[in-house]
Amino acid sequence: MGKMRLSTKILVGLVLGVIVGLFVPTAFANTFLKPIGTLFIRLIKMVIVPLVFSSLVVGASSVGDVKKLGRMGGKTIAYYLITTAIAVIIGLTLGNILQPGAGLELPVDAKYEGKEAPAIVDVLLNVIPTNPLDALVNGNMLQIIFFAIFVGISITVVGSKAEPVKSFFDGFAEIMYKITGLVMEVAPYGVFGLIAPVVAQYGLDVLAPLAMVIFAVYLGAIIHGAVVYSTAVKVIGKMSPITFFKGIFPAQVIAFSTCSSAGTLPATIQSVEENLGVSNDVASFVLPLGATINMDGTSLYQGVCALFVAQVYGLDLSMGQQLTVVLTGTLASIGAAGVPGAGLIMLTMVLASVGLPLDGVALVAGIDRILDMARTTLNVTGDASAAVIVAATENDLTIPSDSNISA
Ligand code: ASP
Repeated sequence: MGKMRLSTKILVGLVLGVIVGLFVPTAFANTFLKPIGTLFIRLIKMVIVPLVFSSLVVGASSVGDVKKLGRMGGKTIAYYLITTAIAVIIGLTLGNILQPGAGLELPVDAKYEGKEAPAIVDVLLNVIPTNPLDALVNGNMLQIIFFAIFVGISITVVGSKAEPVKSFFDGFAEIMYKITGLVMEVAPYGVFGLIAPVVAQYGLDVLAPLAMVIFAVYLGAIIHGAVVYSTAVKVIGKMSPITFFKGIFPAQVIAFSTCSSAGTLPATIQSVEENLGVSNDVASFVLPLGATINMDGTSLYQGVCALFVAQVYGLDLSMGQQLTVVLTGTLASIGAAGVPGAGLIMLTMVLASVGLPLDGVALVAGIDRILDMARTTLNVTGDASAAVIVAATENDLTIPSDSNISA
């Protein structure tokens, strides 16, 4: 595989993983192949906290003016909210048209326990770490972002006395990029080791009754990417959508196989900077924030699943209730952590908001991994599209020619 591009190698790993997964027993896949995937995930997790913290400190300190940082923050959050709401609407529309739950009676596993949604005030207050080291140790991304921005801005304000600290983080961030690059070399094997056990476990039989839900979520993800992101990168970012999707592809495959936006973050940063020409200032601000709060795939899935559950139980969702789903689906996706299965937990909040039986969560729990692969891929693509448009509007984008795409 020596001369192949990394993105091609990752794709080969994915395809081989699927093929091998179809033929080996689940126990074999779990014992012998899964550890390769776990090795990759551990390596990538190793780099997340130091990478995000150092690159964000450097980013915030080199933005130079706080106004620019505020402007970037405003644009990023506006883009995140609008695209997330559009995604739930696409999900609801497909749920209405495709009727994934019509004529289906599934055994309900009443053991599933939902989780209560926290109050919004608490969510906001929680962004402020009472102990920054604790935030770093526990990998609390929003708290890390909050503290790093403070450190970065204060470095600029303090001036020459803070120079050594700035150079330290500069060098430290470079080292983290290097480690990320090395870890990414393992990605093709990691993707293979992650996907094979999933395919081995979910034979086609498990998927059949819920095939329409899977179809709706995947179709929605493709529509959202092809229409919303293509338009945004083309119109606002002045970048060819083909260049965009090619450039972000390595991160997409990793998102697809790890089901974690947070875990994919190092790969997303690398793809966006190296393949799409987004400056480090923008990438290190927009992407960690996106991996934590921007989840269009998750919100789209909430829309599809709310209708699915309603249909299975023979209930109708009125227009008003569907609007409530737009709101709660958006909030649920913001609140979901960038880890596998987070969206499923948040689904309880959406179902509760319109009075649907929470047992409905159990209906889709069996295929959650398959749905998670699609929503995480879309989540990460959305973050990358935000990086492109924010960079373009801040004049921080060097649009690559197609031949430059290296990874
Ligand atoms: N796994 C998703 C992510 O990390 C979150 C979700 O479960 O929807 O982006």
